[in-house]
Amino acid sequence: MSEKKVLKKNSSGFCRAARFSALLPAVILVLSLCGCSAPGFSGSVSEDIPEDTSPVTQEVFAMDTHMTLTAYGDAAQDAVSEASDRLYRLDRDLSASDESSQIYALNHRLSDHVSGDTAAVLSASVRLAGLTENYFDISVYPLVCAWGFPTKEYRVPSGEEIGILLSHTGMDGISFDETTGTVTFADERMMIDTGAVAKGYASDVVAGIFREYGISSGLISLGGNICAFGSKTDGSDWNIAVQDPFRPSDPDAYAGIVSCSDTFLITSGSYQRYFTEDGKRYCHIIDPFTGYPADNGLMSVTVVSSSGTEGDALSTALYVMGLEKASEFWKNCDEADFEAVFVTDDRKVYVTEGIADSFQSSFGTPQVISRG
Ligand code: AMP
Ligand code: MG
Repeated sequence: MSEKKVLKKNSSGFCRAARFSALLPAVILVLSLCGCSAPGFSGSVSEDIPEDTSPVTQEVFAMDTHMTLTAYGDAAQDAVSEASDRLYRLDRDLSASDESSQIYALNHRLSDHVSGDTAAVLSASVRLAGLTENYFDISVYPLVCAWGFPTKEYRVPSGEEIGILLSHTGMDGISFDETTGTVTFADERMMIDTGAVAKGYASDVVAGIFREYGISSGLISLGGNICAFGSKTDGSDWNIAVQDPFRPSDPDAYAGIVSCSDTFLITSGSYQRYFTEDGKRYCHIIDPFTGYPADNGLMSVTVVSSSGTEGDALSTALYVMGLEKASEFWKNCDEADFEAVFVTDDRKVYVTEGIADSFQSSFGTPQVISRG
């Protein structure tokens, strides 16, 4: 598998600040939907695939999501094979429903210890909950279950039930000793779910494997989580589409295109999983403060970040915050370096200023959120 041009390799991993540049004229749709189960879908991605090199592509179904790994270069086959195996292992380890997982063991009080990837995800989750003022909150799992999302037996719980469950949630009730790997819950009914960060963590892991194999060009698509790995084989940027959240089942419909390299783009949206009752849509992202599905005028949030783990937790948190609070959060956040694209339910697109020049909107001129 030869490449016509030798690419500069970023051997130290992704730089802290993602690189963006002017948009390429042509966008070829090559990958479509991913995702989850009915009734909603995950986001989609459109990319330029150079025609003069052959990628190695492998499909994986893990974490309830269709995933596609694409790599270019001599070691591409080995890299995607190892990455696939690792994704299946991560799926098993991080699942809240798989009885052999460490998360299941914690939730059912079969063990109070975690290790390896589970410990890394828990550690990141505790940090990112703090960073987001607990808008990202892995302890909402009892509420997620009450709304029927894990079993797809959807229901609207009573206000009384939600009130009771809220008293068994909250990150303050979880303590994690990183040295021993011990997790302590404040009460017996608390449970956790790393679903809002697991795919982002997995994309970091796959990117790490690609780097180990010396891959300099690839795409990692884990549902609504995309990693534009390196740059295209001709050295130019990837063009990654933000799914049109109003037409989730149409892979050719996008709200805009981000031109980027060495970057993670992670989307949370009500369209990805939801149910409708009495004409009202209830989505899978729960406001940890009310116990109800987030419903604040946003259709989707795409976070553009140099870290998949951070991007995933942030996309969930920003979705719950809503546009106004999320914009303030972005303006004042010193601890994470990210940009964001927001699509509102009145079909407007808002982008943070760091990405404004590399984002091409399909929904008219986007509003730019600036720090000034
Ligand atoms: P994402 O698609 O990354 O936004 O993650 C949504 C998933 O994370 C849901 O399906 C739930 O399992 C879980 N979840 C829901 N609300 C939250 C929240 N506020 N913080 C953390 N995890 C959540
Ligand atoms: Mg997330």
